Amino acid sequence: MITKQLTTNDVRQAAEILRAGGLVGIPTETVYGLGSDGLNSEAVGHIFQAKGRPQDNPLILHIPEASWLERYCQEIPPCAWDLAERFWPGPMTMILRRKPLIPDVVTAGLDTVGMRCPAHPVCREIIRLADVPVAAPSGNTSGRPSPTTAGHMLEDMDGKIEAIVDGGPCSVGVESTIIDLTCTPPRLLRPGGITLEQLESVLGEVVVDQAVTRLMTAGEKPKAPGMKYRHYAPKAPVTVVTGEPAKSAAYIASHAAAEDGVICFDEFLPLFTRQSETRPVMDLGPAGDKEEQARHIFDALRQFDHTQVTAIWAQCPDDSGIGLAITNRLNKAAGFHIIQV
Ligand code: AMP
Ligand code: MG
Repeated sequence: MITKQLTTNDVRQAAEILRAGGLVGIPTETVYGLGSDGLNSEAVGHIFQAKGRPQDNPLILHIPEASWLERYCQEIPPCAWDLAERFWPGPMTMILRRKPLIPDVVTAGLDTVGMRCPAHPVCREIIRLADVPVAAPSGNTSGRPSPTTAGHMLEDMDGKIEAIVDGGPCSVGVESTIIDLTCTPPRLLRPGGITLEQLESVLGEVVVDQAVTRLMTAGEKPKAPGMKYRHYAPKAPVTVVTGEPAKSAAYIASHAAAEDGVICFDEFLPLFTRQSETRPVMDLGPAGDKEEQARHIFDALRQFDHTQVTAIWAQCPDDSGIGLAITNRLNKAAGFHIIQV
C-alpha cells in the first residue's frame, strides 16, 4: 500500500477514506492520530495491526461537537457538560459510560469509553464530513514517542495506512488529558494539555491516579489496561534528572559520558555542546516556558533513534501546570528512572 500524503485542502478525500473503512493519519492539536471509523470493528482492528498495539489498550472516540456525546454515551453526569463547555474543543478526553452501539474493539471490552472533541479545525472538519465518530490513538508504532509532525508519523506508518493529512506541527505536543467521570471523585488518568489545576477549577476535588506518578508494580491492576505499557521510549535508556534547572544541568554535565545524549533547557545548550562536540543534544525550550517544552518533548525523544547513543539524560520541569504532563511522559520514557537533585 502507498500512503497518500494529503494537504489540508483534501479533507473530503480523507473523510471518504474513513467512510470506506480505511486508516487516515489526522492532525490534532495534541499529537497526530491514527483514525478509522469508530463504528466499524474491522477498520478499528486495522489500527491495532498498524501500530502493533495490544488489544486490551482502548482507543479514544473523536467527535466534532459536544452534542454527539449523547449518541455514544449514557448516564452522562452534569459535570461532563460543564467540562465540555469550558475545555472543548480542546485537549481533554472524558471517560463516560458507553452505549452498546460502540464496538468492543474500541473500548477493549470496557463498559466505558474515552470521548474527545479536538480543537484542530482540519480534524473536526474531517470528522464532520465523514459523519462518523473517529476512533484514534496516537499515530506512532506502539511504545514509540507520539508523532507531533506528519513526518514523524510517516516514519512509523508509511505503507501501513491509506493516507495522512499534513496539518502542520501540533500546537500542544502532548496527548490529551484523560479524566474519568465514572467514579467519585473524578480521577485523572493521564495529564495533558488541560492542566490538573484547570480541571479542579470546574470539578473541585480530582484524584490523581497512581499510574501518573509512579511505576505500576507486577500484579497491580491499573484503572485502564493501557496504563501498564512501556511508553514513549526511544531505543536508548533514559535517566530523568529533576530539580532546580542549574542543579540538574550540573548533575548531568558531571555524570554523563561524552557520547551520551542529553535533553536540556535552552539555557544549558552551550554547556553540553562545549563539553563534547560529538554528543547529540536536543533542546526542550526555555526553562521558564513549559508550553514550548511540551511542543518539543516527543520530537526530542524521537530524534535520538536517528543517532548511535546508548544512554540519554534529560532535564525535567517541575510538575505544576502542563509540567505534570511533561514529567509524566519523560518519566514513562525513562521507566521511572528518576534522580532528584
Ligand atoms: P493514545 O491516544 O495512543 O494514548 O491511547 C488512548 C489512551 O486512552 C490510552 O492510554 C487508553 O488507556 C485511554 N483510554 C481509552 N479509553 C479508555 C477507557 N474507557 N478507560 C480508560 N482509559 C481509556
Ligand atoms: Mg499513544
